[in-house]
Amino acid sequence: MTEEKRGKILYLVVPCYNEEEIIEKTIAKLKEKMNRLIAENKISVKSKVMFVNDGSRDKTLSMLHEAAKEDSMISVLGFSTNFGHQSAILAGMMYSREYADMVVTIDADLQQDIEALDKFIACYMAGSEVVYGVRNDRNTDSFFKKTTATMYYKLLHWLGCNIITNHADYRLMSKKALNALSEYKEVNLFMRGLVPTMGFPSDVVYFDVKEREAGTSKNTLKKMLTLALDGVTSLSVKPLRMIMLLGGVTCLFALGMLVFTVVAWLNGNTVPGYATTVIMPLITDGVILISLGIIGEYIGKIYMESKERPRYIIDTFVWKDDSNDKSN
Ligand code: UDP
Ligand code: MG
Repeated sequence: MTEEKRGKILYLVVPCYNEEEIIEKTIAKLKEKMNRLIAENKISVKSKVMFVNDGSRDKTLSMLHEAAKEDSMISVLGFSTNFGHQSAILAGMMYSREYADMVVTIDADLQQDIEALDKFIACYMAGSEVVYGVRNDRNTDSFFKKTTATMYYKLLHWLGCNIITNHADYRLMSKKALNALSEYKEVNLFMRGLVPTMGFPSDVVYFDVKEREAGTSKNTLKKMLTLALDGVTSLSVKPLRMIMLLGGVTCLFALGMLVFTVVAWLNGNTVPGYATTVIMPLITDGVILISLGIIGEYIGKIYMESKERPRYIIDTFVWKDDSNDKSN
């Protein structure tokens, strides 16, 4: 059979951080799914799963290396330390674009339905360079996560960001789209906001989200808040403009208070000044401090960008060329 008929080369990129409880199950499930896709001629035999170990402190890396020894379909990219989920998927995509026609990023806990892969591939075959996975509902999330996530997407839309609601990082990108992505050098990474700005033909695939089968969420509240803030600052400068608006409103308010006081004085009323002299400076101080905080956040980001530090450091890379073993 010709290579064309066998389908295109798919690489799955799987970021892993302390996932020893679930990784074996994940490897087995992904291998089984990939073999099924190959048998159905939907993807090439050269397709692989590339795990990116994001500096795990448990046995994840050794388990991945063991799996790679047993099966050449498994490839492992190991970071020198923990660089975060966004850097892990970026590294996986940048390494696999050398070999793959299309790359899908998926979490190691397989909360995202792997059966949706068929639909991702069908969209790619139909001409999409980017396919966004969008979750059907948020029923598996806690009330807190559901509410904050919904509010966050609303906020990003309000700030003018072209982001797809309820799309996380379950996404297919073609080689062409990945080559374009490699031109983006920013350290402040927020992939789900960045990719839609690239403007390639795209499609959406809906999928169900399951409970985590083992282990706990590696996205701590601190990591989620950092990502949320990175999202806003990497996509929009509107908060900076709002400071100007806030300043204008505060000035108008102060002017109003001044007029009120003068009119009251002309009418012979003594101004009960204590409350105003205490409260007013507090309000303006608060506004100024918040404003400085917002400006500071952007300056911090400029500082980080200006250093041009690497977004990740690779310590180990395991990849086996198996085209000769399988193609005959
Ligand atoms: N992850 C990572 N680096 C980190 C945190 C998480 O590579 O610093 C990976 C993690 O192993 C998983 C994915 O990112 O594959 C999503 O994390 P998790 O499932 O814990 O987050 P949640 O689904 O709870 O948001
Ligand atoms: Mg998860």
